[in-house]
Amino acid sequence: MKELAVVETVKNGGVFALNPSDFEGRRMTINEVVAILSAFDAFWQYQGDPCAQKPHALLKSGKHSNGFIMTKSALEYPKLCMIFAHEMLKVIEKRIFPDAMPKIGFVACSAYSALNLGYSLALIIGEKYNIPVRHVIVEKDDKGNPTIIRGGIDAQLQGLIINELMTTGGGSTWETRDAVLKSNSQNSPPYVMTPAFVLIHRSADWLLSDQTKVEAVFHFDIKNFTLEECPYCKAGSEAIKPKVGDNWKKLTA
Ligand SMILES: [Zn+2]
Repeated sequence: MKELAVVETVKNGGVFALNPSDFEGRRMTINEVVAILSAFDAFWQYQGDPCAQKPHALLKSGKHSNGFIMTKSALEYPKLCMIFAHEMLKVIEKRIFPDAMPKIGFVACSAYSALNLGYSLALIIGEKYNIPVRHVIVEKDDKGNPTIIRGGIDAQLQGLIINELMTTGGGSTWETRDAVLKSNSQNSPPYVMTPAFVLIHRSADWLLSDQTKVEAVFHFDIKNFTLEECPYCKAGSEAIKPKVGDNWKKLTA
């Protein structure tokens, strides 16, 4: 399908009619991913220059932002995960390993939003290349950080770190990599391939905390600010919590 047809299909309520094959021979475009996420009320980005007439987002962290993406709403549907996993595989094949696809033994991701996507990616890599690919789940500890990998990982294996969304270089993408490197405690860790790989990059960071490079399928220029430095507040725009009351409607109006 052509981009325009995909966007029209989604806008007319047909997001679940899409299939990975609709994007065959090309990459999904930014317009298409925005349309798909918008169908799940999962995407907002500030349009135009900061102004008093349009509000901006107040995040849980207390920071202010000119964009908000909730991949969870879309990735709760296995069909959407399958479509996005195919887009990830295209980038893995063409941009990360352009010469030859190495033997990928595992795909690791952290709980919870990335899990369905990681499962789908492990499944399609395994099927296409006829290799066993383990889906490694990094569970959250009692502080809510992804650090726990039950049973460790065979040190002979090499694998990918993936995430569905990256906001900062010190967030869950890095935590997932760190957890995999520590997964066998005193024994040798498995080999972790680079770069770390994310579906949606809404960050200024292209390195993790340990300087590992990051590659992404989609990049959005969304910024976070402290109250003091927020250009939207300075322009008189109100900072509102995206998911409270009818704030989402105000943001996306
Ligand atoms: Zn602000």
